[in-house]
Amino acid sequence: QAEELAALKDLPAETTDGFRMPLWVNTGLIADVARSLERGAEGIGLYRTEVPFMIRDFFPSEQEQAQTYRKQLEAFHPRPVTMRTLDIGGDKALPYFPIEEENPFLGWRGIRVTLDHPEIFLVQVRAMLKAGEGYENLRIMLPMVTSVREVEEANRQIDRAVRELQEEGHNIKRPLVGVMVEVPAAVYQVRRFARRVDFISVGSNDLTQYLLAVDRNNPRVADLYVSYHPAVLKALEYIAREAHKENASVSICGEVASEPGGALLLMAMGYDVLSMNATNLPKVKAAIRKITKTDADRLLKDVMSMDDADRIQALINERLDELG
Ligand code: PEP
Ligand code: MG
Repeated sequence: QAEELAALKDLPAETTDGFRMPLWVNTGLIADVARSLERGAEGIGLYRTEVPFMIRDFFPSEQEQAQTYRKQLEAFHPRPVTMRTLDIGGDKALPYFPIEEENPFLGWRGIRVTLDHPEIFLVQVRAMLKAGEGYENLRIMLPMVTSVREVEEANRQIDRAVRELQEEGHNIKRPLVGVMVEVPAAVYQVRRFARRVDFISVGSNDLTQYLLAVDRNNPRVADLYVSYHPAVLKALEYIAREAHKENASVSICGEVASEPGGALLLMAMGYDVLSMNATNLPKVKAAIRKITKTDADRLLKDVMSMDDADRIQALINERLDELG
């Protein structure tokens, strides 16, 4: 079966009736890049920049960051690379920047931290832009956004970084910028965000946790953390529909896209890109190559009429089994 998956590398992720579904990957370490290219990834939908920050003893300098980022951009060029600005807080702490709170998932995390520390944000964005000089495949993505003013402030900082670097003689353009939709408040403001940025990307891991009020890391409630909960599916469908009303590209980079069944539903919902861990990419591609778009649409329609996550899961498994 490993050989079968390897043979998939250069085949398109395309349904039997010819619908093409771009499959991208999530990365953190440079090692992920090689694995992703081996599996035929067409882009990076989420580069978790906190990973290189976590394996150090102090904030990396602009130059150090630029070197690290450049490796991802270079290895994937000309394919797009989506770099998320630092997403610390919540479950991700830096040893040299401790954040102690009673409810870290409802606290100071993601864009909230970096907008409070423009020096961190600006240095990171400058490093990304410098790394991207001459490549033109950089995209920047903002985590944990809950309101329009955060998007506007981040846009201003990005403009400032671009301007500074141009004045310093660098040959750079403003990259594509996107907002992650990973809190319920963002779901209902998707069109407002979409008007201010180039793309939307759903962080379904956090979105599931916040919609269901289930800590994504608490084993006691792990049974309640379900991607196929009707409320989660409704939100995912709504986001794609709303983003498209503003002609924004909409992708997803949470784990649900790494499951073959989840990927088929998201394709039917109209997601433009599915970004997943490299390990699961061949499995997802294999499922897409077995189904017709019409059958995926029918599966989605059936699933959306159902009330219960377990039954939804059972139906998905049944259809996947039928595909073989
Ligand atoms: C998510 O929340 O779905 C996501 C992709 O980001 P992370 O898992 O890094 O929080
Ligand atoms: Mg997240």
